[in-house]
Order: sequence, then structure tokens, then C-alpha cells
Amino acid sequence: MPTTLTQAGTAFSFSAEQQQQLYLIIKHHVGILPSSDVAALCKQYDQPVDAILRACLPIAAQFAVAPISQFFVGAIVCGLDSQGELHFYFGANVEFSQQALSLVVHAEQSAINNAWLNGAKKIVKIAISDAPCGYCRQFMNELADAQSFDILLPKQQFKLAELLPCAFGPNDLGNVYSLFNPAPQQHQFVTRAELDAKLLDCALSAYVPYSENYSAVKISTFNNGDFYGCYAENAAYSPSLSPLQSAISQLHLAGLLMNKEVVQGIELLQTQGKENQLSVSQAVLASYPELPVLQSISLALCIKPTVV
Ligand SMILES: [Zn+2]
Repeated sequence: MPTTLTQAGTAFSFSAEQQQQLYLIIKHHVGILPSSDVAALCKQYDQPVDAILRACLPIAAQFAVAPISQFFVGAIVCGLDSQGELHFYFGANVEFSQQALSLVVHAEQSAINNAWLNGAKKIVKIAISDAPCGYCRQFMNELADAQSFDILLPKQQFKLAELLPCAFGPNDLGNVYSLFNPAPQQHQFVTRAELDAKLLDCALSAYVPYSENYSAVKISTFNNGDFYGCYAENAAYSPSLSPLQSAISQLHLAGLLMNKEVVQGIELLQTQGKENQLSVSQAVLASYPELPVLQSISLALCIKPTVV
């Protein structure tokens, strides 16, 4: 049975001023509250991690860009890095004006994407400001820790199996791997000349067991560095997160917006296995007509030479 908090009126929360201070810290770390800050908050307020996690949800929602719904959702992955350090990885929903609703990034996708891109190895908990929609329950079912992590809502706690019984997942398509537990990469790009090495690495890190379209996006800014996104597929196909949406979500977690004062250029790199990211990328970017034209690059893969 789901766990329901019995003292709903006594939940710990941050003041508006504390929220603003934390927002600036998280923005500085591009959507991450590092383990040292998490530990310091637990100690300072004498609260367990779960209480701090839930209290951070209104801060996560501040990163949302929701011009259509005006419904601002926050999600936070509580995850372990390769050193076993526990960080909070923030996420928020992203909507695209004048474009199809099916293109939106959900807050849970944003937080999971943020954790994945930043090297989280194990998801312990996912906190969400509102109940996860069916699309997000399916997206979460692709995760390596889908059976073990806790889903924390403001006043309830669940396991994914309680929210998604009789689930369809990677195993149903014969895929023994999962997001955060990908197949070992056996390939490399045929050429690396003149291309951003990190963009190539991101593309090779894409989770693409169903299409094999290794793809990534780089958004270059004038004054705030580069933002990268990787393609993350789902066994049910539709909840897959495109590399451009992945990169835009990261840019928003730095407190930036997709406008011509910020964005200098956008590159899509893909291998075009059994699908193509160009059209969906152009559809998303049609929401920002003032931005530079998307640069699209297609590269072939070859088998990585064996190191003797
Ligand atoms: Zn959702």
C-alpha cells in the first residue's frame, strides 16, 4: 500500500527568501544541488533527506517554462554518483509555443535527463510536485532502478510498480539493457575532424536500443557556455526524449531562455539508424523563429578497433 504522510499540515518548507537563495545555488550548478549542500541543509534544519527533497520541489518548479499551460511542475532525482555521493538533480516541464503538445518535456523527464547527463549512476528517489502522468510513469519504467526507487509526492510515497502495474518495458522488446545501464559501446564515429569532441561523445552515449540512431545536440550560447543533450529512447517509443529537448531542458536549468540574446548556434549530430531527429528538431525550433538555423550533421559509425 502507498505510504501517506499523516501529519500533512506539519511538512517542512523553506521560506520564500530561503527558496530564492537555493534557486541561485542550483542555477549556478546548472540544475544540481551538490551532496555537500544537501548534507548542510539536513544539518542546518535538522531534517531528513526526504523532507529537504520535498521542500525543494517549489524551487524545481521555478525552472519550468510553460507558456501554454501556465502549470509549473518540479521534479527532483535524488541520485548517487560514481563515488556514492548523493546529489539532487532538478527538472521542470518545458512547453513550446505554437507547436504540438506532444513535443513538451515533462518535469520527470527533465530531472532524469539531468541526472543521466551529469553522471548519476543510481536513482534512489524521484520527488515530484504533482502526481506523475501516464507518459512519465512509462518513461520511468525504462530506468535501471525502476523496481527499487521511491516516488515521493508532496504527501504520498510509492513504488513505480504501484503506479504502473502490468507494465510494458524494455524486456518486452528483447532489450536487456536500460537507461543508466546501457549496452557497452562497440562503435566509434568514422571521422572526428572539426567536430566538437563532447558532441561526439554525447551522441555515442545516447540510449538508442530501438532505433540505433546515436544522436546528440549542442546549443552554443554567447556568454554561458555550451549545453548538450542526448537522445534517450523508451520501449513504448512515444515517451522518448529527443536530443534537442534534452539540451533545451539543460539550458533552462541554468536559468536561461531560448532567445537570440542567449543562443549563438544549435548543432544536431546523428547517425540515422532507423529514424531521424531532423524533422522533430525543426518542429521544436519553429517555436523560436528568431534563432539561428539548425546545423545538421550525419555521420556513419564503425566498429571500434580492439585494443591489444
Ligand atoms: Zn508527465
